[in-house]
Amino acid sequence: MIKVPEPLEDVIVNLLRLANTKLPEDIGWALEAAAAWETNDIARSQLGGIMDNVKKAEFAGRPMCQDTGIPVFYVTGKIIPGTEDAIRSGLRKATDTIPLRPNTVHPITRKNPGGNLGKGMPIIRYRPTDDNFTEITVIPKGAGSENMTRLAMLNPADGIDGIKKFVISAVLEAGGRPCPPTVVGIGIGGTADRCVELSKEALLVPADSVNDDKDERELEEELFTILNSSGLGPMGLGGDTTVLKVRVMTECCHTASLPAAVNISCWASRRATVKISADGSAEYRQK
Ligand code: SF4
Repeated sequence: MIKVPEPLEDVIVNLLRLANTKLPEDIGWALEAAAAWETNDIARSQLGGIMDNVKKAEFAGRPMCQDTGIPVFYVTGKIIPGTEDAIRSGLRKATDTIPLRPNTVHPITRKNPGGNLGKGMPIIRYRPTDDNFTEITVIPKGAGSENMTRLAMLNPADGIDGIKKFVISAVLEAGGRPCPPTVVGIGIGGTADRCVELSKEALLVPADSVNDDKDERELEEELFTILNSSGLGPMGLGGDTTVLKVRVMTECCHTASLPAAVNISCWASRRATVKISADGSAEYRQK
């Protein structure tokens, strides 16, 4: 039994405020490292501008980008009854008070119901477990990067070379639109829908962690080097820093399939998690 923090909607507001106003430390470190190794003056100035913007947003408690995105919530552990209602009301309150841009519209009428709500919104993924705590993670993604998501149902004969070709062309064709330097999430395997989900889940893994799957890690390292040698650079204006991290996640797939998906996150690679323990304490983190 988990004592519900009162009110749970305020925990959701805090979570959204953290995700939108403070860049995770690992992404900040990756930006600083990039500024140190950059050889291109325009690129260094772009990276400096981004880091300045991040500091000002955190100091002022304001969103680091005007596109506060569409949040996807992942709820794991023991699910607290009423979580969905709390997420919905918390999101509406956060939209009004942080504030967040009300981004959601009906896809046909383009009417905006306000509060970042509406049919199917917000997106919530549940993974119940037997743990005696619940964790809620949010990843808000702006349209500039989300619009660059790509899925390829490759032929198994295309193999690893086909996957590399697909990822490289997806990132380079996106150009400056997803506001590089980016974090590139890659899903390989599963079904078409699961593969796209995997590519977004890959963005939740901290950039300073090392993948313990050797095959995934080697692919990440190779793609990181290739993409950073492309010359695309920060904001697509040229330079040595096109990506801050490449993260691969794999799952088994049908023997006749080879799904691959790319989900790019801009430099504003936002995420935050709250762990609510059995005693009702709420602990926030961005790891
Ligand atoms: S891609 Fe990211 S940084 Fe660029 S406008 Fe969208 S949310 Fe902002």
